Amino acid sequence: MLKENLAFVEKEIQAACRRSGRDREEVTLIAVSKTKPVSELREAYDLGVRIFGENKVQELADKYDELPKDIHWHMIGHLQRNKVKYIIDKVDLIHSVDSIRLAETIEKEAAKRNIQVNILIEVNVAGEESKFGVSPSELPEFVEEVAKFPHIQVQGLMTIAPFVEDSEENRAIFERLRKLSVDIKDKKVDNITMRVLSMGMTNDYSVAVEEGATMIRVGTGIFGARDYAN
Ligand SMILES: *Cc1c(COP(=O)(O)O)cnc(C)c1O
Repeated sequence: MLKENLAFVEKEIQAACRRSGRDREEVTLIAVSKTKPVSELREAYDLGVRIFGENKVQELADKYDELPKDIHWHMIGHLQRNKVKYIIDKVDLIHSVDSIRLAETIEKEAAKRNIQVNILIEVNVAGEESKFGVSPSELPEFVEEVAKFPHIQVQGLMTIAPFVEDSEENRAIFERLRKLSVDIKDKKVDNITMRVLSMGMTNDYSVAVEEGATMIRVGTGIFGARDYAN
């Protein structure tokens, strides 16, 4: 099943790239493996998957310990400051930086280890009250603040679009995130790049790719439905 799912997602990405005149190489697929057992991640690994996304610190750290070291781990979920230290040297990219206080903690822990940490700023484009993320209006000032931290490299923006029946409804949100990143790029802030746009999940990644996503986060579409009961 995993093999067929991966092949299907790959075909969809290629089709979306073709429709929008993009190179397949511009889009990185992150296999969102949260709640899934290590055995299933290993199966995906054996099929060639090397980039996994997790949203819980403990789960990411456990899986990190158990699986091969050539895996690239992405922290995509809300991150509490007191847990930064457990994953800071295990992840390639933290997608979910949404407060200056969190950035301060990342800076402090990175400085201790003398490492550079790649992050994305999570933007609440849709303005949903239930969602984490910086509001578009606060974003320019937020970027300037985070740019001052010497051990943090801002690589781009991330958003979680609302769950909708028709993925077309999220097109404007993806377009908005891309425009926000272009505005920031135009300001040429030191220590900031906007090469990553992390947007699009199982239900809407094709539209996200058409609108310029460089990373898509696909869970259900690869691993099947999640079971939160156990
Ligand atoms: C769970 C999750 C995903 C993947 O969701 P699917 O709909 O299963 O593809 C993507 N991004 C974030 C931040 C998530 O928490």
